[in-house]
Amino acid sequence: MTTAGSPSYDVAIVGLGPTGATLANLCGAWGLRTIVFERSTAPYPQPRACHLDAEIARVFQHLGFEDDLHRLLTVSAGMEYVDADGRRLFTFEGFEREPLLGWHEDYVFVQPEIDAMLRDGLEQYAHVEVRIGDDAPPLDELRRLARYVVACDGASSPTRERLGIGLLDQGYDERWLVVDVMLRDPGVPPLPGIIQQVCDRRRLATFVPSHGRHRRWEFRLAEDELVPDVWRLLAPWGVTRELGDLVRAATYRFHALEAARWRDGNVFLAGDAAHQMPPFMGQGMCSGVRDAANLAWKLAEVIHDGAPDSLLDTYESERRPHVAAVTAMSIEAGRLLGRLAVDRDALPLADTPDPTRWSRLPGLDLGGAFPIGHQLPQPDRLDESLPDGWVWVAADDGVVPPDGRPVVVEPRATHGHRAVLVRPDRYIAAVA
Ligand SMILES: Cc1cc2nc3c(=O)[nH]c(=O)nc-3n(C[C@H](O)[C@H](O)[C@H](O)COP(=O)(O)OP(=O)(O)OC[C@H]3O[C@@H](n4cnc5c(N)ncnc54)[C@H](O)[C@@H]3O)c2cc1C
Repeated sequence: MTTAGSPSYDVAIVGLGPTGATLANLCGAWGLRTIVFERSTAPYPQPRACHLDAEIARVFQHLGFEDDLHRLLTVSAGMEYVDADGRRLFTFEGFEREPLLGWHEDYVFVQPEIDAMLRDGLEQYAHVEVRIGDDAPPLDELRRLARYVVACDGASSPTRERLGIGLLDQGYDERWLVVDVMLRDPGVPPLPGIIQQVCDRRRLATFVPSHGRHRRWEFRLAEDELVPDVWRLLAPWGVTRELGDLVRAATYRFHALEAARWRDGNVFLAGDAAHQMPPFMGQGMCSGVRDAANLAWKLAEVIHDGAPDSLLDTYESERRPHVAAVTAMSIEAGRLLGRLAVDRDALPLADTPDPTRWSRLPGLDLGGAFPIGHQLPQPDRLDESLPDGWVWVAADDGVVPPDGRPVVVEPRATHGHRAVLVRPDRYIAAVA
């Protein structure tokens, strides 16, 4: 597959989970010659992720999936913490925000449907070769095959293992049972319309009213506990065998791990291969999609436009602190369940969780004050009229940037600044 000296591909991707599939689509859109290896012959059939946020929907919009998203996503009503009797302790419900990025802040979905959308999308790119059912070749061969290799090969990443990159433990490790049910009738039995974190000291639990007929429960297990009968766990929710089909019930370790390095020469780690977090904020897959969006345009600039290879070092330096912050929030959200279950009144006032703090994720540290490092707002599907690549977006047409004409928009898209410089991934890099 290699001709003397020059790699046959710009990018080789290992793994076609949501991270690899998003990256492959982005590489396709950037015109990069790409090869993808996926060892499984079919997409992972069972739902894992079921929540995504506005930024992820925007990435998928950019890839041309808007029509699919309207079919595959349901707007989430938010999340609340409740006590053992279902009484609300506090809620995120009041924090539904205007769709600043062009999409609502939270959606639920069924992961295999999104996986299929991303895979189908690859068919449009003749320069993206997908090897389904093929284990990735040995790393030495991959390094010769493509100029850059991105390992999106999941939590147990064989690439990470081969590189001898260790995992840093962020100090969270719990055993949970994940139960997915497809209700026969989405209205029966009547269930909460909002994600619930159930602070019941006898059994901590999470409930997610997912898309369509899909409903998700997660139940905390003791370390040595035998897996309880699923239908007995669901009985208090009014769910019986007659009302739904059990898609799966599987135990998971919810943990918080981060690869010690995300780059080794021309090999990068992305998605679960680089980081794993407990699912209480629904941000694991979202973080992998963010990795892909951060890395793809940088690869394109290095490969097509002669940008220095060091640009690719900013992938880890930008994404790692962001992932660390989101992981910390996810751990906090998980620990809070246990604390509130033990004593809801014991929380000192200063410790009382502040949902507004959680309700918006941090930006990237690009060395400037807000809105630098945050995404450009997207009123009226603004992205559709922006050119690919870097762009100046100005609130009045009197602004003349050094390198051409800006796209003129309404002032709310520039957060009130006269002009903002927007990166290809729609993050604001500078203001004028
Ligand atoms: C219970 C639960 C709930 C969750 N809820 C959410 C949520 O609501 N929102 C959210 O954002 N995230 C959530 N997550 C996390 C999310 O599911 C993961 O972060 C995401 O699926 C990781 O995607 P990935 O593409 O990085 O890895 P994976 O999906 O694991 O994909 C890796 C792929 O690499 C392939 N592969 C591995 N080795 C090789 C090889 N050598 N050659 C070829 N192919 C290979 C595998 O077959 C696999 O297809 C949840 C996770 C769990 C467990």
